[in-house]
Amino acid sequence: MIKTAIVADRRYARHFAGRSHPERPERIEAMVDMVDTLRRDGLVRLSPRQAGLEEVALCHEPDYIAAVERTATLDRYAFDSDTRASRDSFHTALLAAGGVLTAAEAVADGEAENAFAIVRPPGHHATASRAMGFCLFNNVAIAAAWLVRVRGFRRVLIVDWDVHHGNGTQDCFYSTREVLYFSTHQFPLYPGTGSLDEIGTGEGTGFTVNVPLPAAFGDPEYLRAFDDLLMRIGRQYRPEFVLISAGFDAHFRDPLGAMQVTEDGFAAMARRVRRIAAEFAQERIVAALEGGYDLRALAESGKSVIEEFGREADEPIRPVGDSERVIQILERCRYALSPYWDFA
Ligand SMILES: [Zn+2]
Repeated sequence: MIKTAIVADRRYARHFAGRSHPERPERIEAMVDMVDTLRRDGLVRLSPRQAGLEEVALCHEPDYIAAVERTATLDRYAFDSDTRASRDSFHTALLAAGGVLTAAEAVADGEAENAFAIVRPPGHHATASRAMGFCLFNNVAIAAAWLVRVRGFRRVLIVDWDVHHGNGTQDCFYSTREVLYFSTHQFPLYPGTGSLDEIGTGEGTGFTVNVPLPAAFGDPEYLRAFDDLLMRIGRQYRPEFVLISAGFDAHFRDPLGAMQVTEDGFAAMARRVRRIAAEFAQERIVAALEGGYDLRALAESGKSVIEEFGREADEPIRPVGDSERVIQILERCRYALSPYWDFA
């Protein structure tokens, strides 16, 4: 039986970004309510710990951490027009980074094969020195840096299927090959980065993989990108640990994204990631919640991924429907990456 650790806590509702802000406390309520109904065998429920400041400093600059800390003394603070903090945001952000670390610890220590950390605020837009895109601390990037620097993993794969490009995560690991960042995202869309010629720099060249997709693409196109790019590169990279920036705003019902992914599509993406993890990483996967702003789509997609995490990783991967319209984009991605990876 596959054990899946679930990190969930209603304290994540304490961060408040402003009235009628889409990244709202009800997102956590919807996910925790869903988790409470799960009857899957092998679920291990964990409470998050707070990240230490030295752990946050694995990815963020001291001046920036201090600036976020100062917001705990203010009633409200706006980093920019859509990224705001309330009095509880700093501690909630430490709990979000710590929640992904709690999940990573459990999986690294073998207490579970995989894990899902239901956290907020989200993280993948936060850079070393800047809050943006609803994100304060980069939860997944901190976990990746921790796995490499503290736990000694040599190759960590991050799969980011949030509808937005994770510019902050990309920045953190742009010049290293210890972390391979793979992102599918609607393009053009906020934050504007993530074109297919952004492939890394220095010794990290080839270890950033961006798959920018036009609006209205759905399961067949996403799965084709996973099959033709992620699976091929992943089998050459041979990751020892896999992280997923699991946003659900590429869902067809999401109000911010304009993609057509279904709950089954997210599960099918998870199945492909699990196959790579089973082949090279002793099953080790930690998924962390990023975006997703329709409460029903969020809960149903989260549920289908957590259920997929409990299936045997060698279940067959079904071919997907007509994905003709993504082929040209994938061809251009392969061309940009062909000096670094074998696509023959
Ligand atoms: Zn997003």
